[in-house]
Amino acid sequence: MDEAAFMAVKYGIQSGHAILYDQQTKVQWSKYVWERCNIPKHRYILWLTLHQKLKTRDYLNKHCQVVDKMCLLCGNHTEEISHLFFQCDYSRLCLVKLKEWIGCRAQTGNYHTLLRWISKAKHLTKLRRSFYIAAVSALVYHIWRVRNDVLWSSKIWHVNHTMEVIKRELKLRLTVMYKGKQNRDKEWYQKL
Ligand SMILES: [Zn+2]
Repeated sequence: MDEAAFMAVKYGIQSGHAILYDQQTKVQWSKYVWERCNIPKHRYILWLTLHQKLKTRDYLNKHCQVVDKMCLLCGNHTEEISHLFFQCDYSRLCLVKLKEWIGCRAQTGNYHTLLRWISKAKHLTKLRRSFYIAAVSALVYHIWRVRNDVLWSSKIWHVNHTMEVIKRELKLRLTVMYKGKQNRDKEWYQKL
């Protein structure tokens, strides 16, 4: 909220809380996007997702264009951000596989709650939290990529193929991030 808007609001406990909450949320979202382990090309799609700006079919219908609203990955639900990440059958299965692979115990299947859970997981090292956020970011990017392939090429990648691509990119990233470092995560990341 800018200064002019701030001055226009009559101050009270409720409005004060709303301002602080709004600022805190913005800080959190930017923290996820700029997390150091994130692969640079994944950052932009995560940013659009967190700001509800990703041009899903639901978004297009609300803002400018009338298109078929159904999800391109499952055909069973309106294509909106909360569905794509990760209520859709396709993306939910990818998330289950991703969590198994990295050893993430979070129960939630909602992208925003998941990111918040990771950022508050004090049992994890800082670097591992950063890597988990990078993993969610990679998944968001690749789900969107697979969805676009369905739209433009009418082909859908098998979940296993999508996961292989994600794992390959993340392993490479991890090698760079952990290079030369001795730490208590070493056993974990060497098994990935
Ligand atoms: Zn779907």
